Amino acid sequence: MSSLRNRYSWGGFELGPSQRHTLKTAIDCVGRGLHSGVEARLRLVPAPAGSGIVFHRTDLDQRIPACYDHVSDTRLCTVVSLPGHPEISVGTIEHLMAALMANQIDDLTIEVNGPELPILDGSASPYIFLIQSAGIAEHGGDRNFIEVLRPVRVENDEAFAEFRPHGAGAYGALGLDLSLAIDFPSSAIGRQAFSISLTPESFARDLASARTFTLACEIEALKKAGLAKGGSLANAIVVEGTKVVNPEGLRWQDEFVRHKLLDVVGDLALAGAPLVGRFIGNRTGHALNNRLLHALFADAANYRVTGTAFAGTPLQLQAAAATL
Ligand SMILES: [Zn+2]
Repeated sequence: MSSLRNRYSWGGFELGPSQRHTLKTAIDCVGRGLHSGVEARLRLVPAPAGSGIVFHRTDLDQRIPACYDHVSDTRLCTVVSLPGHPEISVGTIEHLMAALMANQIDDLTIEVNGPELPILDGSASPYIFLIQSAGIAEHGGDRNFIEVLRPVRVENDEAFAEFRPHGAGAYGALGLDLSLAIDFPSSAIGRQAFSISLTPESFARDLASARTFTLACEIEALKKAGLAKGGSLANAIVVEGTKVVNPEGLRWQDEFVRHKLLDVVGDLALAGAPLVGRFIGNRTGHALNNRLLHALFADAANYRVTGTAFAGTPLQLQAAAATL
């Protein structure tokens, strides 16, 4: 990938490309939302350097920055909305956000004409296909990086999510290493763990195709709650006790933890700039992932922002981007 020519030097380590990226051209797709069941047209549109990733609800003509501070719901997917306007929102953003972060896309307008992104096949693989079909362009301006300086941890019973600074070891190309463990009573899932150094290649190879999943016993409750209206075996793994209901089976034996890690990448993409550090999670979900970002940015001693594009905290970066 040509972008790897421009790398950012950090304490003697080569971190990743320093040039900001967008797509070479606009690209779109159509599909149903997992929870709303509503068909939506999604269009990824190149955006100016420094503008960040911004959702544009074209049916309402409202823009919502892809920022952790705009997350309004994390029950079954990650939803961002305009502060004070929960009806102006976009849901199930995490798979697309993961694909964008892994492919080092800094600036993009995500147009969607409804309240939820298409679920497609339940993984990030179709989004990788769209990004690669459109092509990735360097378009000037330096990338900012957010370096974790000291451990930050959030917990909920046995579940936890934690950032740690990088030790002296080698960094992944994007500067973010992740480890996650999950534990489900269903024996088809059980206890699984997975670790990855995030790069475009490792994400595409090891995480992107992992599909979302649900337990058969929960589907009825979800539908009664008005959720999972667009769910089917074409876009989710359904687990019933010891077996996987989908006739085609699993893409990996540990597809479940890989998908949960994909979700983590997507949720952490809302930091507003690439993270440099380690993530360690146990049974974490969208709520805890978002709480971890809030905890990181709650104390300026926890992190520092590098790069010359903008100075300031991530929220100030977002504010600067929103004015472009
Ligand atoms: Zn997911």
